[in-house]
Amino acid sequence: MTDNLHLEKQAGDVVFREGDPVDHAYILEKGAIEISVERGGQSVVICELGPGAILGEMAVIDQATRTATAKAIEDCRLTVVTPHQIRQRIENADAVIRSLMNILLKRYRVELARNRGFPVEAESALLDSAGIRKIRLENELKEALEAGRIQVMYQPIFRLADKSIAGVEALLRWDHPDRGMIPPTELVRLTEETDLFVHLDLYVLGTAIKSLVDFRARASDDFFISINVSVKHTRNQDFLNNARSICLATQQDVHNIMLELTESALVDIQQLSDWVQDAKTAGFKLCVDDFGTGFASLEYLTRISPDVIKVDRSFVLPLPDNPRIASVLRGILHLADDLNVKVIAEGAETTEHVDLLWGLGYDMAQGYALGHPLTRAQILDLLTDRQFRETSPDPQS
Ligand code: C2E
Ligand code: CA
Ligand code: CA
Repeated sequence: MTDNLHLEKQAGDVVFREGDPVDHAYILEKGAIEISVERGGQSVVICELGPGAILGEMAVIDQATRTATAKAIEDCRLTVVTPHQIRQRIENADAVIRSLMNILLKRYRVELARNRGFPVEAESALLDSAGIRKIRLENELKEALEAGRIQVMYQPIFRLADKSIAGVEALLRWDHPDRGMIPPTELVRLTEETDLFVHLDLYVLGTAIKSLVDFRARASDDFFISINVSVKHTRNQDFLNNARSICLATQQDVHNIMLELTESALVDIQQLSDWVQDAKTAGFKLCVDDFGTGFASLEYLTRISPDVIKVDRSFVLPLPDNPRIASVLRGILHLADDLNVKVIAEGAETTEHVDLLWGLGYDMAQGYALGHPLTRAQILDLLTDRQFRETSPDPQS
């Protein structure tokens, strides 16, 4: 070996032999290599490799012994590929890709064993893996979407001045028949790996708009429904076009619909600001969600000019114990006021949070102390109850 990263072999030298334990894979830089296997005591050449080819990678991937012999047929120079270089990539790859690769490799190994007359594993034993489970879950989700089994809950957003309901945020729920409640973040992550997120967000939008018709009959004119949308929609106009068509078909005013984009997922600010401009021109309200968690919060405020920002709960939860947080929250509010952007504080978990937020000048908040995510029927009851209280004569007077 000339150094740790390269190997020189002369014509006739063996690089590795069938049955050897695995050490490295190699990239052939110069020369030619013959790959052969033992069959009935005979050496059978299965292929010849030239510059640019990789060899010995399979045994590195599945940590098996060598199933073929590699012999230099010309003087060769090889680059050494360490198991670490390959395995780390595989570990970081998508579970579906990893599973498919393992399955293909296992099939190849089974075929080799079969050719040599060895007993082989049943194919079904090869298929239980994280990637396969993921594809199964994806198909179950598609079925659940088609059958309308994905539930949409609504968390009220309150005006602190009079504890009236300013609007609601639509939050999806999937009660999986075997796995129980699957967190929406897991579903969103899964759907964003393919184009399934388009169907999921449009499903939530369609369901939420149907509810909005009934909510608005019991709420103030400016009552809004907030929908979380994947940042991936900002790549093109499809989501906005579909959302507009749904609103048109249900005769729902676009102005009562707010689209929430999670700040930490925002990347391409130019692409985003074009999309936001189109969304606003169409009449949708725009909200930067989880404000403060991204890398460029202030840039979003100035370049996107959203209608609303939602201050992330990580700024609100420590409020009772951390006076410095109060200064940050006060600063965000002043800045947003100057830019004519409304602010909602998330994560108002206790009455202390609510009181402190009100004391800082916050007008709108969302959190468990004010209201958990509720079903459509529960929101209707809540709105009816409030409407009734507002229109009934005060029993004291
Ligand atoms: P998010 O948009 O920040 O939604 C608020 C999350 O905070 C919800 O979690 C809500 O239940 C939770 N929450 C509300 N009040 C409190 C509180 O006082 N304290 C604490 N600790 N949490 C509170 P959920 O429903 O589990 O949703 C998690 C995330 O999943 C959402 O975060 C949103 O990013 C995503 N998501 C939910 N529904 C959808 C959807 O329909 N489409 C998309 N694209 N994403 C969704
Ligand atoms: Ca949200
Ligand atoms: Ca949020």
